[in-house]
Amino acid sequence: MASVYDSVEVPEDGAAIEVVDAESDDLEVPDNPIIPIIYGDGIGTDVGPAAQTVLQAAAEATGREINWMRVFAGESAREKYDENLPEDTINAMKEFKVSIKGPLTTPVGAGFRSLNVALRKRLDLYTNMRPTFHLDGVPSPVSRPDQMDMVTFRENTEDVYAGIEWEAGTEEVEQVREFIEQEMGYDETIHDGPVGIGIKPISEFGTKRLVRKAIDYALEHDRDSVTLVHKGNIMKFTEGTFRDWGYEVAEEYGEEVITEDTLWEERDGEPPEDAVVVNDRIADNMLQQILTRTPQYDVLAMPNLNGDYLSDACGAQIGGLGIAPGANIGDGLFLAEPVHGSAPKYAGQDKVNPTAMILSGRIMLEYMGWDDAADLIRNALEETITSKQVTYDIERQISGGTKLSTSDFAGKVADTIYDLA
Ligand code: NAP
Repeated sequence: MASVYDSVEVPEDGAAIEVVDAESDDLEVPDNPIIPIIYGDGIGTDVGPAAQTVLQAAAEATGREINWMRVFAGESAREKYDENLPEDTINAMKEFKVSIKGPLTTPVGAGFRSLNVALRKRLDLYTNMRPTFHLDGVPSPVSRPDQMDMVTFRENTEDVYAGIEWEAGTEEVEQVREFIEQEMGYDETIHDGPVGIGIKPISEFGTKRLVRKAIDYALEHDRDSVTLVHKGNIMKFTEGTFRDWGYEVAEEYGEEVITEDTLWEERDGEPPEDAVVVNDRIADNMLQQILTRTPQYDVLAMPNLNGDYLSDACGAQIGGLGIAPGANIGDGLFLAEPVHGSAPKYAGQDKVNPTAMILSGRIMLEYMGWDDAADLIRNALEETITSKQVTYDIERQISGGTKLSTSDFAGKVADTIYDLA
């Protein structure tokens, strides 16, 4: 049933994307879908419209059109609705299934909790997926950035991001301390004096649905392996169990998924054709392996905090925050979002790089099955960047580049899309 909206309008010409099967993300996508967009805070008002320009060009160049439905969160929502995350926004994302957002500012230490986390929780977008690959022409701190081609699947709803924590000096934290020390027997484990305490839940349900998404992705996209990244040597009953449940999921798949142990014990390291190998690595080791053995890794599945660190470390190899895209995925619900934040010091200057937001939109088009449009975007970005027409962040790292504004860069990429189509 269509939602009723208080302060935003549904575009008249578009049609809604329908979900055929939520668990397998099977969609019916019209050629004129309605797509909700949140520009976001800070540089969101720069990169949001820039991404729209490029995504619309890719849609038009492949015989389609996107009907944007602008919805609000953060600063712009406070102005329009006097609240951070209005129901209009949640309803639009639920009704139209596939959406895109820019960054939202989160105050550190005090104030409201992260709106990004709230959105992911309200919509049960339990997977944060980040494909990290190198675009030709983008400068990188490593000598072979082209070897980086990993996709991280990060659990989005639990672990330390569940937000179960108590502030030092409160009555609640002292109750928790007393329970831990006296009832649970961890006497003298917590230092005397003020302390903050947080809880890290990792459930079988949360782990298994995340690992299934990662393995399904690997099978669908002909990837060779899925690596479970954990710190189970230290946190045995949370991170360690994440690994164990991950392997249980691998067993559900039959012959098309094989564990690394079985591969070596029974097949001398030779995987069956088209099979996905599931292995696991400890998180600190993995942080160096992504640098030292980059080509060996493919899809990574991990709890929330490991995913936060690992995906940014992968992103650094391909050019950093101006480039790194992401998406949040539930069952039949999708929200694209760049990895970067709202970079308040650059807000409204038409200066920053919109590539991360454009590439996030590209993941969205792939999710919708518009692979031809997605390919055009990648090709046009590479052509524009290799011609050294770039935004400030890339221009300062190369010689002979032309520095473009956010909107001019997006315009060049859109023109290149029409030329290539
Ligand atoms: P940030 O906004 O990502 O910015 C950090 C630095 O990264 C910038 O100063 C800039 O570096 C570079 N950068 C980021 N986006 C860029 C772009 N599009 N083009 C070129 N360079 C870019 O991180 P932050 O300053 O830590 O966070 C600011 C706010 O954003 C915080 O409130 C944070 O909570 C929030 N945040 C939101 C999200 C989200 O909405 N998903 C994610 C992360 C952070 P240079 O100064 O070197 O040019």
